[in-house]
Amino acid sequence: MYETKVLPADEKGIDLAERLLRAGELVGLPTETVYGLGADALNERAVPKIFVAKGRPQDNPLIVHVHDRSQLGGLTRSVPERAERLIRRFWPGPLTLILEKSAAVPDCVTAALPTVALRCPSHPAARALLARGIPIAAPSANLSGRPSTTTAQHVLSDLRGRIPLILDGGPCQVGLESTVLDVSRPGRAVLLRPGGVTREMLEEALGEPVDLGHGVLEPLAAGEKALSPGLKHTHYKPKARVLLFEGEPEAQCREMAAAYDEAARRGERPLLLCRDGLARSLKPRDCLPLGLSDQEIAARLFAALREADDRGAGLVLLQGVPETGVGLAVMNRALRAAGFDTRQCK
Ligand code: AMP
Ligand code: MG
Repeated sequence: MYETKVLPADEKGIDLAERLLRAGELVGLPTETVYGLGADALNERAVPKIFVAKGRPQDNPLIVHVHDRSQLGGLTRSVPERAERLIRRFWPGPLTLILEKSAAVPDCVTAALPTVALRCPSHPAARALLARGIPIAAPSANLSGRPSTTTAQHVLSDLRGRIPLILDGGPCQVGLESTVLDVSRPGRAVLLRPGGVTREMLEEALGEPVDLGHGVLEPLAAGEKALSPGLKHTHYKPKARVLLFEGEPEAQCREMAAAYDEAARRGERPLLLCRDGLARSLKPRDCLPLGLSDQEIAARLFAALREADDRGAGLVLLQGVPETGVGLAVMNRALRAAGFDTRQCK
């Protein structure tokens, strides 16, 4: 058991975080996507502590965070030209690249895969810590299966007593985990997890189509091998049951209202999570507005799922968004939060 400290992500906080990482301990840290739970990526005694603290399945590999392109030499076997192009365009930022790993990267980081996931975050606090020269292996700083954390308080509520330090860098701007793109094989790049760097942005930068990995928008078949181990695990789930409504806004409004009223009659404590406009039409029902744009919805989704639990909701009725731009990332998380329990509204 630790007495978990929450410190501002200033010089003093970063100093302590660096000392803890060098001593093989874990640190909760802000990034522009979600909060991360970091360890020294090259320390084989430190990295396994991440899996214990989160209750994360051992076969789910971690993302290694670097300060800049120059650190890739020690971590990868080669960096193909198209990866270089994406790095020039999107780093620092919410894009993780899957590349062939070097022998220096321990198997506990990559779940013994021959590839490693690499990202260069843009959040100033993450960059200040990475500037101290330690590559940091970090998954999202939540208990495994729960919604990712987008504030230091969320990290504390999941990991209190399990880690010594959380750096508080304010709420995360993007709010969803990084885009994960496999550029380790010949042929087209494969999108394994949509995020803030959208499929459209990647295709534009590469000048060619990007394939969508199987399992991104649909459940994997029983026994099907996942392209990315993370795809097969339960994810982003609050305690409440989540039902996702897809389709045209007018039909969504009608069906969400009907489902809410029925659940309320059954005493299930329903809660609506939807775009601001719909929230107005659904009044006076209990509702958490998520914002106007898909960006705002992305930034608020995990916090809203957590708030649903805090309010003791029994059933969350979540409005789906079109699967374009950052909407693809929102739907990838929403589908998993709902365990693929969806209603097509017509
Ligand atoms: P998290 O940081 O919790 O969001 O998890 C990292 C995500 O990256 C998971 O979905 C992993 O499956 C994925 N990932 C990490 N390393 C690899 C890899 N070498 N190949 C494919 N996917 C990976
Ligand atoms: Mg995660």
